Amino acid sequence: MASRRNKSYPIVIRDLEVIEAFNVTPLMRRIVVSGEQLAPFVNNGIQVGPFLTENADDHVKVVVGNPGVDFPVPGQEDGHLDWSREALDRARDYTPRRFDPVTGRLELDFVRHKGGVASTWADHVQPGERVLIAGPRGTTVLPEDIDWYLLVGDETALPAIARRIEELPAGTPVTAIVTVPNVGEEQTFVHQTELDIIWIHRDRAPRGEAWEVRVMEALEGAPWHEGTVYAWAAGEAEMLRPIRRWLKDVKKVPRTHTDIAGYWRRGASQSEMGEAAHQLDHAVSLALPYAARVAVSLDLAEHVADGCSTISALAQAAGATVAGVRKVVKLLSFPGLFELGADDSVKLGKLGHVMTEDFAHAHLDRRSGYARLDDAWPGLYHAVTTGESGYRHAVGESLWDTLGADTQLGESFDFTLSQWSGIWCREVTSALALTTEHVVDVGGGSGDLLGNLLEHSAGVRGTLVELPSSAARAEKQLNERGLGGRFDVLPQSFFEALPGGADMYVLAQVLHNWPDAEAQMILSRVAEAARSGRSIETGDDAVSGRGIGAGQEAEAQLGDESDPGTGSGRIIIVERISGADAHDHDVELDLLMFAAFGGGERTLSEYAALAAEVGLEVHSSKPLFDDLHLIELGCVPKTEATN
Ligand SMILES: Cc1cc2nc3c(=O)[nH]c(=O)nc-3n(C[C@H](O)[C@H](O)[C@H](O)COP(=O)(O)OP(=O)(O)OC[C@H]3O[C@@H](n4cnc5c(N)ncnc54)[C@H](O)[C@@H]3O)c2cc1C
Repeated sequence: MASRRNKSYPIVIRDLEVIEAFNVTPLMRRIVVSGEQLAPFVNNGIQVGPFLTENADDHVKVVVGNPGVDFPVPGQEDGHLDWSREALDRARDYTPRRFDPVTGRLELDFVRHKGGVASTWADHVQPGERVLIAGPRGTTVLPEDIDWYLLVGDETALPAIARRIEELPAGTPVTAIVTVPNVGEEQTFVHQTELDIIWIHRDRAPRGEAWEVRVMEALEGAPWHEGTVYAWAAGEAEMLRPIRRWLKDVKKVPRTHTDIAGYWRRGASQSEMGEAAHQLDHAVSLALPYAARVAVSLDLAEHVADGCSTISALAQAAGATVAGVRKVVKLLSFPGLFELGADDSVKLGKLGHVMTEDFAHAHLDRRSGYARLDDAWPGLYHAVTTGESGYRHAVGESLWDTLGADTQLGESFDFTLSQWSGIWCREVTSALALTTEHVVDVGGGSGDLLGNLLEHSAGVRGTLVELPSSAARAEKQLNERGLGGRFDVLPQSFFEALPGGADMYVLAQVLHNWPDAEAQMILSRVAEAARSGRSIETGDDAVSGRGIGAGQEAEAQLGDESDPGTGSGRIIIVERISGADAHDHDVELDLLMFAAFGGGERTLSEYAALAAEVGLEVHSSKPLFDDLHLIELGCVPKTEATN
C-alpha cells in the first residue's frame, strides 16, 4: 500500500504587507498579504526560492505585531531561521487558504476568538501594515491509491478542508464533517467533487451535551465509501482523540492513510503548546544520560584533569574511538560538563569535576554493580506489561546472576548499598533492641544488619542466609568485626528451606526486590521456618559447615506436620511503605526497582495481602524514618488460617 510522505523545503522568512482584511463570515476574518518577497529574493546573502504551497493542509507561521520594533525579525540562515523568544511567542500556524503566484496574493483565514495574539491582530490589522510569514517548511505528498476522502474538523481546519475540496479532481467522493459555532459560519466552496458535507452547529447542542459527542455520532453515521480512504482530521486537540481511536480501532484505517493534527488546545496558547512539546522532548531524551554514563565509565573527566587536552589524546587514554569521544564530549558540553574547542581542544566544564566523584562512579560507571541496575530500564516495558523482571528480559539473566558472576561488580554493589544500609541498620537495631535472641537474617547481604544486631548485645546470635558470593563476603566482614563464633552463614537461596527454630526472622530490604509471586514464596519459606519449633544449631560445626547442614536439617523439618513445634519465631520485615508525599527521587527509584525486579515499594495493605496468602498477618507497623517501616508479621491463629 502506498504511504503519505513529507517533502521538506528550506525554511524562509518573508517580510510582506497586508493588502486587504475583511470578514468571510462573522467569525472568520480573511487577511490578504502580498509583497516582493513572495518571489525569489536574497536575504542575509542567501538566495531563497519563491513562496510555494503544494498541498491543501500546508501551513505557514504568521509572526504578528510590529516586526523589528516589538520583536527582532528572525534571521535568515542557510536552510533555517534564527528565532528570538519574543518572535516565537508571536508566531502562530495558519493555512494558506489560497495563493496566486501571478497576482501575488496570499490569503489566510483567521478564526476570530477571544484572547489570542493572532486572532486579536487579525481583528485590528489594517492594509499597509507589515507582517512576517515563515514557511511552509514542507508539504505532505499524499499516497497515490486514494479512492475517497474523509475530512473532519472545526473552523480552524476549514481553510484546509475548503482548499482540499476545491483542489480535488472532478467526481472524487468526499465526506466532510465540520463543526462551527453556528449556522452563520458555514461556508460554500467552488468545487467538482462528489461532496457529502455535514455541518454541526455547536450552539444547537442540547444543554449539557458535549458537542464532541455529536461530531462522533455524525462520523459514525456518515457515508463510508468503497475503496481506499484518506482520513484527515484537525481542530481542537481533545475533540480529535475519539476520532483517532475510531479510525484506528473500528475502521482499521492504516497510519499511512490517516493524518490527524491538533491545531489548538483549549486553555493553552500555541506557544505554550510548542513549549510543552519542547520540554517533553528535552525531558525524555536518553542522549544525555547515556553519554554521561559512557564518559564516567571511560574516566574521561579524570583523563582531562590529568592533562589530556585534545580529543585524540583523550580517546587514546580512554582506549576509545576519536569520533565517539568527540561526539560524547560535544553533547556533554551543553550541561557544562566539558568545554570543546573548535580545534578539538577539551577542558573540564564548570560542572565537570562531578564526574570524577565517587558518587558518579557508583551510580553511572559500568564497572559499578549498582550502576548495572540501569540495564533494567530497556526492560521497563516488559516489566510493566507482564509484572516480570525487566532486567532479566533485557539482559538475559537476573541482576543477582550478573553480580554473582563478577566479583568486582558484586563487591561494588554491596559497597554502594552499605552506604544506605549503614543508616537504616542503626535504626532497625535500636528499634528491635534484641538481648539474647537468635536471629536469622534472610537475604542479609554483606552482613551489615546482622553485624549491628550482634554488636548491640553480646547475648544475640545470628544466622545469615545469602547466595554464595555475597555469603562469603558477609562472613569475611562479620569476622573482621570480631563477631566470629556468634554467627553462622548459610550460602543458599532463600527460596530453599530456611533453618527453623530461631527467635526472629528478619527480611530487611528484600521483598521489594521481588514480584508478588516470588515475594510470597520467600514469605512462605520464612513462615514455615518460624512455625517450626526446633532449635538452630549454632555451635562451631554449624559455623564451619557454613550452614549447609543446618539448611538440610531445615528442609527435613519442612512438611513435618506431626511436629507442631515449640512456638513461633517473630517475623520482621523492613521496607519502605509508599507514602502519598514521596519525593520524585523515591518515585524514580521505586520504578527502577519495578523495572529491575518486577518489585518495588508496596503499601501496608499490599504487604498484608502478601502475608495473608501464606497464613500470616500484620501485627504491627512502626515508622523508622523516611517512609522506612518495621513491620511485624505473625501467624494467623490456626482456626482462621485453615478455615
Ligand atoms: C498546521 C496548522 C494550521 C492551522 N491553520 C489555521 C487556519 O488556517 N486558521 C485558523 O484560524 N487557525 C488555524 N490553526 C489554529 C491556530 O494556529 C490556533 O488556533 C492558534 O492558537 C491561534 O492563535 P492565537 O494567537 O489566536 O491564540 P493563542 O494565543 O494561541 O491562544 C490563546 C487562547 O485562545 C485559545 N484558542 C486558540 N485558538 C482558538 C480557537 N480557534 N477558538 C477558541 N479558542 C482558541 C487557546 O486555547 C488559548 O486559551 C492552525 C493550526 C495548525 C497547527
